[in-house]
Amino acid sequence: MTARPQHNASVAEWADWRWQMRHRVRDVETLERYVQPTDDERGAIRATAGVFRWTITPYYASLMDALDPACPIRQHVVPQAGETAPDIVGVQDPLDETGHSPVKNLVHNYPDKVAFCVTSECAVYCRYCLRKRMVGDADWMMKKDELRDGLAYLRAHPEIRDVLLTGGDPLVFSDDNLDWLLGELRAIPHVEVIRIGSRLPVVNPMRVTDELCAVLRRHHPVWLNTHFNHPRELTPEARAACESLADAGVPVGNQSVLLAGINDDADTMRQFVEGLVAMRVRPYYLYHAQLIGGTAHLRTPVEAGMEIMRALRGHTSGFAVPAYVLDTPDGKVPLTRDYVRGRAGDHVVMETTRGTVWAEPNPLPPGWTGPRLPEVTMPAGVRTVPTGAPRFVYGDPAAPLAGAAGRAEAARP
Ligand code: SF4
Repeated sequence: MTARPQHNASVAEWADWRWQMRHRVRDVETLERYVQPTDDERGAIRATAGVFRWTITPYYASLMDALDPACPIRQHVVPQAGETAPDIVGVQDPLDETGHSPVKNLVHNYPDKVAFCVTSECAVYCRYCLRKRMVGDADWMMKKDELRDGLAYLRAHPEIRDVLLTGGDPLVFSDDNLDWLLGELRAIPHVEVIRIGSRLPVVNPMRVTDELCAVLRRHHPVWLNTHFNHPRELTPEARAACESLADAGVPVGNQSVLLAGINDDADTMRQFVEGLVAMRVRPYYLYHAQLIGGTAHLRTPVEAGMEIMRALRGHTSGFAVPAYVLDTPDGKVPLTRDYVRGRAGDHVVMETTRGTVWAEPNPLPPGWTGPRLPEVTMPAGVRTVPTGAPRFVYGDPAAPLAGAAGRAEAARP
């Protein structure tokens, strides 16, 4: 599918990433230019105001099916009724990233690598986002001094060899700011690996300009992991962006999330990973969806993901097969029989790479007829999401929108 100009934009405006950012869809009236919002979507927009921002670039909005609320693109970015439904296991920070942040927005949970959330702004706000607690929120935006605090922490910790720039989305930075940040990182002798995590090649592929590629080239080796989830996102524009990055010497990987009703069947996943490879993008991780509050409708049983992996392995190119993993406060766990012990009722029990045992709340949907992991006894001393962890509280879907307090929108530095 090819995106089409909207908003009466000229071809030059449409192709300008900054124009795309300035003209993002942020209200129902603008959304109506692209789709016919359902009553459920209107209610969810009201109920999520003040909890989790929504915006959509015109480019990404133009990929939505105007008449089908089940459209996978639309489910990614338009608030859905399921988001405000009861979610008994979903919390705000399932990986305890806040507890692992020695300075603002710098998550240090592995001995040799960190995730540095250099901004809280994104081009769109994915409804299942792991960092829903902070993205889109001005309070979590990084001022230049705060970026310097993070850099000082990195300089003071010679054990850190791998830095992931994430957010939010680091590619919302201007070329000059990105050039400065990458230059500061490259000047730290023990930082060997610089990675960028960005969804802009998916939702605003116009961001990948010759100028951006020149900046990245100056600081090599720079790796970039992007975040496609569905074959419909693999447009000619996205392909051109990924190919430009590859031509600039940036290895491009993809981290996707397994999402119920969006990409949780083997045929869609095979088409998807083969489409990525055709764009010179290496499928890297397939994440099991996290226990973010308000995402129960998007989570799958672990068994569903393992079944998809079985359908991929040996049935497509080896390098098209991502690793299916669950992120936990004890690090990523490969969801394979080497690590997954079995199911203890509503929990999936697994060994982490650190030798701890983690129990992921993962109830099977009512009437589930798919495969089941072997039943195991819940081990003593197992770790899991703490009861009492903070949760999101949504508003009334029927409340007037004007009465809902929104969070201040994050601005670009
Ligand atoms: S682009 Fe990434 S950080 Fe931003 S909302 Fe989507 S998943 Fe979250």
